[in-house]
Amino acid sequence: MQALTALRLRDPVVDAARHKLVAGESLTQEEGVRLFEAPVMELGLLANAYARSKHGDRVYFTVNRQLNPTNVCVLACRFCDYAKKPGAEGAYTMTEEQILAHVDDEITEIHIVGGLHNKWRFDDYLGIIRSVKAKKPSLSIKAYTAVEIDFFCRLTKKPADWVLTELKAVGLDALPGGGAEVFSERVRRELFQQKIGARRWLEIHEVAHRLGIPSNATLLYGHIETRAERIQHMIDLRELERRAPGFFAFIPLAFQPGTTGLVRRQASAIEDLRTIALSRLMFDNVPHVKSYWVMLGQDTAAAGINFGASDMDGTIGVEKIAHAALAKSPVGVAKESMVQTIREAGKLPVERDALYRVIREFPRHESAAAAVAATA
Ligand code: SF4
Repeated sequence: MQALTALRLRDPVVDAARHKLVAGESLTQEEGVRLFEAPVMELGLLANAYARSKHGDRVYFTVNRQLNPTNVCVLACRFCDYAKKPGAEGAYTMTEEQILAHVDDEITEIHIVGGLHNKWRFDDYLGIIRSVKAKKPSLSIKAYTAVEIDFFCRLTKKPADWVLTELKAVGLDALPGGGAEVFSERVRRELFQQKIGARRWLEIHEVAHRLGIPSNATLLYGHIETRAERIQHMIDLRELERRAPGFFAFIPLAFQPGTTGLVRRQASAIEDLRTIALSRLMFDNVPHVKSYWVMLGQDTAAAGINFGASDMDGTIGVEKIAHAALAKSPVGVAKESMVQTIREAGKLPVERDALYRVIREFPRHESAAAAVAATA
């Protein structure tokens, strides 16, 4: 808390939030909405100090691959540029060989999400985990959103605890946390009415946490939701973490308008930074907030780690979902580039696996790294 108590702020609203956090009190929805209007640099100072009180200057990343085994999906969410109907142009379903090509010596984590395939059974989804694990037993597998878990429940007519136990038995380590979108019934009815809502998403993650399967949680912002709905989403997650702890990270995802026609442009970089800062301050019991470079772009993501984020996700490899919606970021970055970006932001890079076990801490400056290598 030293970083927070020593902080001097000019804005009374931001300083009042600082006092509450120092006292160990959570911020209310009304306070969160007011903070959105506060001067952005003051907000950033507070969120950065709060992140430092948890992690010092450490910023985590992983060397991972994103695997999207199919874009065939039985649903048709309005904001989704990724999914295709069976047989449509551009629809794909990977073979086992194509799936296993994503597993190489370099990676320590694989992130698997995709469409709700009209022909696949639960065994097909289990089989993906089984064969990835067989190829590389040491790999951490983070797979399937709550939307996919709910789909498996419907395919098998079994409850979520049975489905998750089966997945865990073949090697699932964690849930990636997608599919949360915004916990607002109004938004769900307008944009993804066939898909599960807040109650079911939270229920599935609660079951996962109680079974010892940790998870992340996402927020899709920058479309038709209000700031108050964003803040309420963070509060709902905070309450779940109190009831059934198990979240590793919260990932605000900037909506990519693509060809959806929902909004004319992506949220501005300033709005991104405010949302990252508010995420850190509101969802006070989640260990990490991610600055997800795939959707933010590398420059805004680098700024995000001075606005309360303490994780930059991973090197990714070939990401298909955000890029189907015309994300402008590169499809993957090298590990050296990730380390360099974190250093340039004045932070300490720490390589981790999907379960946040530390693989390597990098020195703050490259010259120190070279010196360490030379004396090793
Ligand atoms: S968001 Fe997910 S469930 Fe909805 S259409 Fe796209 S792939 Fe399918």
